[in-house]
Amino acid sequence: MRVLIVEDDGVLADGLIRYLQQAGYGTLLAGNGHEADLMLSNEEFDVVILDLGLPGLDGVEVLRRLRARKQQVCVMIITARDAVEDRVLGLDRGADDYLIKPFALAELEARLRAILRRRMASTGSEIAYGPLVLDLEARRATLQGEPLRLTAREWQLLEFFVLRAGKMVSKSQIAAAISNSDNDPSQTSIEVHVSRLRAKIEGAGIRIRSIRGFGYYLERPAD
Ligand code: CA
Repeated sequence: MRVLIVEDDGVLADGLIRYLQQAGYGTLLAGNGHEADLMLSNEEFDVVILDLGLPGLDGVEVLRRLRARKQQVCVMIITARDAVEDRVLGLDRGADDYLIKPFALAELEARLRAILRRRMASTGSEIAYGPLVLDLEARRATLQGEPLRLTAREWQLLEFFVLRAGKMVSKSQIAAAISNSDNDPSQTSIEVHVSRLRAKIEGAGIRIRSIRGFGYYLERPAD
């Protein structure tokens, strides 16, 4: 899951990034409203954690623009206690939930899971792919009914491949999808992660094919 954190308070932002990365989310930071608007226009995220009081463009305007572009990303507003009207306005404009500062990071993560669960309720959070089953909410995979032990990076890669099964994906698409604020993966490190992931799943007949000079694709189980 890829999270954009929009927060101009550096200390709070650092805490959020550390906590969510440890919980297995990919995180990117925007420190002001214009930066957030630009990133949301150009990249895909699963969730936006949006502060309302921002320099430049405020959070309500960022949200208004996001929804005007018909983007379906989940939005969690974080705001100061005295901004009650802003909060109501935010929910009217299409935020999924809000939290009042200060909040416990565990509470934020629990709310994020609840939002994502609601969002996935229509499709269910499990994806079966031949002998491989991914639980997107719990971020766990099983292979032939046995738990598959994956690093955070390998999980991100596997989720990315399975959601795009049968389609070619370039190394730069992969890098963008699994990057986070303090660690942009190089092409070489992607190759290393892919080869480790392969070793864990190919015994069960699931193949990640290389396309020379471009990237990869995950073969459909019946291919
Ligand atoms: Ca702020």
